[in-house]
Amino acid sequence: MGILEVKGVNKRFGGLQALGDVNLSVQEQTVHAIIGPNGAGKSTLLNCLVGKLIPDTGSVMFDGQSVLGRTPYEINQMGISRVFQTPEIFGDLTVMENMMIPCFAKRDGSFSMTAIAAVRNQKDIIEHAMHALEDMNMADKRHMHSASLSRGDKRRLEIGMCLAQEPRLLLLDEPTAGMARADTNNTIDLLKQIRDTRDITIAIIEHDMHVVFSLAERITVLAQGTPLVEETPENIKGHPKVREAYLGE
Ligand code: ADP
Ligand code: MG
Repeated sequence: MGILEVKGVNKRFGGLQALGDVNLSVQEQTVHAIIGPNGAGKSTLLNCLVGKLIPDTGSVMFDGQSVLGRTPYEINQMGISRVFQTPEIFGDLTVMENMMIPCFAKRDGSFSMTAIAAVRNQKDIIEHAMHALEDMNMADKRHMHSASLSRGDKRRLEIGMCLAQEPRLLLLDEPTAGMARADTNNTIDLLKQIRDTRDITIAIIEHDMHVVFSLAERITVLAQGTPLVEETPENIKGHPKVREAYLGE
């Protein structure tokens, strides 16, 4: 039994079957990648895991409990944090102030606008935020405005903001999308460090094969909303079905 168990999930948008009978089992303390061509349904699947979308049918269990019918905040409180495809940090706040938001949420119980408002007053969470920034090697950048960070550092901050909530499952949707190679490599190193030093499970949606093969222990290939293959990286590389679906060969 995995920490995350997805069974028979279907999701339609009008006439489009975005997910068709998705089964996925993510084992605790592994890095599991979900790959597939554009439009395969990867982000839709992730949104179904975090309560942003509700599947039409099927079940999603995290640590033996159903996430369906729960709000994104409740699912977050269960121990799932996510990084979406586009960075979601607050550019008008400094690095430190951004980091204070999840630290507040951890105490208050909700990652919400009230948390954002409260960081402007509450200074007693600075210590937690400072530790979290040190963990990310970003303490020296704490007074910088987040909008002026490099793309790689924005991602680093965002991942750190997830980790400050001490999740058991970290979900990442194309964390290196749009990055230059140097930022991509920094992000790979950061994720390796997280994988190797924390009690955490990582599920990563990723287009960049270099990232996938650097990190993942298991890979699920999604094509047209349905898992085609689940394998180790070694077995994925030459897999004919994967070449056909993903590499367009
Ligand atoms: P991926 O992340 O693998 O690129 P998505 O999950 O974003 O794919 O999209 C899967 C399919 O569902 C695509 O055809 C996309 O256009 C469609 N889709 C995604 N979200 C919506 C939505 N909110 N409404 C309608 N169609 C959507
Ligand atoms: Mg996507």
